[in-house]
Amino acid sequence: MEKNLASAADRADYLVDLSNIVRDTALGGIGPRSLRRLDLVVRALITLTGDPGVTLYPIADRSLLGGQHEFADPAEPVLLRRWVDRGLVEEVGDADERVLEIAGMTGTRVITGDHYVPYREEHPWLQGNTWQFLKPERRHGRLPGPGTVLLVPLDMGHRTAVEISRKLELDALKKQGLLDSRRTPLTDVVRRSWTCPEPRCSLYDTRSGGRILLPRMRRGVPTCELHGSALLEAGPRTGTAQLKAVIDGVCAARYTLDEGSRTVVGRNPGGEGIPLHGLLAPERAGRLSRRHLGVTVRQGSVRVEDLSSYGTRIRRADRRGRLGLWQQLPPGGEHGFRPGDELELAPGVVLVRSGRLFPAELSDVWRSEAGRTPPPTYASGVTRVPTVPKP
Ligand SMILES: [Zn+2]
Repeated sequence: MEKNLASAADRADYLVDLSNIVRDTALGGIGPRSLRRLDLVVRALITLTGDPGVTLYPIADRSLLGGQHEFADPAEPVLLRRWVDRGLVEEVGDADERVLEIAGMTGTRVITGDHYVPYREEHPWLQGNTWQFLKPERRHGRLPGPGTVLLVPLDMGHRTAVEISRKLELDALKKQGLLDSRRTPLTDVVRRSWTCPEPRCSLYDTRSGGRILLPRMRRGVPTCELHGSALLEAGPRTGTAQLKAVIDGVCAARYTLDEGSRTVVGRNPGGEGIPLHGLLAPERAGRLSRRHLGVTVRQGSVRVEDLSSYGTRIRRADRRGRLGLWQQLPPGGEHGFRPGDELELAPGVVLVRSGRLFPAELSDVWRSEAGRTPPPTYASGVTRVPTVPKP
């Protein structure tokens, strides 16, 4: 199998999400982690391509080799380490990130069983992709024995903004040990404020105004990430809501609104408002009213009011996040704006209520994970046209 490993990504015919394959017990092999599964995938790939010299570039999380006791065969982690040292396997902190980075840049096909839902905003090319991903599947022969593995196209499908947000949130909570055995968030912990007993530690201090962390659960106790001490309870956390500005289908900015606040969104609303002109080419910005939309957060629910000259459209998400048809937001008065709903302020300029259920720290977790909010996408050098003055 070693002769099929490429020494660089650009020399490989296929990328392999190695942790995903090595941990896939459904493929055969013994124990929670087995290199035998990679061997089965290599054979399947030779069968699929008809090329005995087909090359793969495996990418692994550091945690794959970190958990070497999970390999039934102690020789396997040793071999894997040797491959990492020789550059035949790339070892990185976050393999998903790296796999998608290379696949997105080069169009190389990927062998994996993962749908990469949390990465759909950063990598919109994943949506509806039916050609770039192959999933190994075990096929049992008529005779008893290991069976064979086939590579079948993996349809990535479309995920709605709500589904993507929920998955991001669950992943962030899981990292901190904040999901119970039924993968339900520990709301008692998440919905409260905490402080570290270390006098100078402000990692969890909501009054600091800066970035704060989610508590890390250790043996059922919320603890400080830095000091390891048990955190002290500091009362219930006030609610917040998050809006995303989506320009031509790409998330250009996120805004966190506090409980009890009223905020005006528009081209350039002034004061504490949210100005969108910086995200848009001038002729696009000109289609927004200066003060376009009022947004109020009250007891965790968000209400919106159309203040614009030319109107705002809304489409509502059902419980499963599927979007209905665009409708005019009735002028005058406040209307509910629930997670997953979308507001269109001008063609291609959309505000989305994030599907996030938990506090603002989670949006920081997303942002800090490799800057998932892409920069504004309008091209520089756009022809400047005079902005149409609007009231
Ligand atoms: Zn601390």
